[in-house]
Amino acid sequence: MSKYNNTSAEVYNIGWLDSNHLYEKGPTTLIFKDKLKAIFKRERMNLVRGRHYCQLCDEPKKIVYLEMQDGKSHMLGISEIWVPNKFFTKTFSAPDLILHYVDYHHYLPPQEFIDAVIDFDLDSDWFGKSVVW
Ligand SMILES: [Zn+2]
Repeated sequence: MSKYNNTSAEVYNIGWLDSNHLYEKGPTTLIFKDKLKAIFKRERMNLVRGRHYCQLCDEPKKIVYLEMQDGKSHMLGISEIWVPNKFFTKTFSAPDLILHYVDYHHYLPPQEFIDAVIDFDLDSDWFGKSVVW
């Protein structure tokens, strides 16, 4: 986990995986995964024109999509997912590809990120944009 660069707010990067570094693996719960998808649907931060590819997949430059329960699919690798901890003292910034990393590569994020995702109230008036802009 490292500090996010472009802000003085307490924003921390997590889940920026690449093929050169080992990462924590382990099972995650369906509750966590569904909630992470819901947060992704609620607000996508820092949409970019370029694209990040999954470096863990065998196929190079494979475009990764997330299939949602409503039948829609979303391209990943073009935005971030932000979520605050329960006390709003810290914000986590993860690539949207984290949804793919967790599902396909068994990435186990830090426990405090998992807790933040599970604790987050989807009806809250908190938005990532309010942290930096
Ligand atoms: Zn992959």
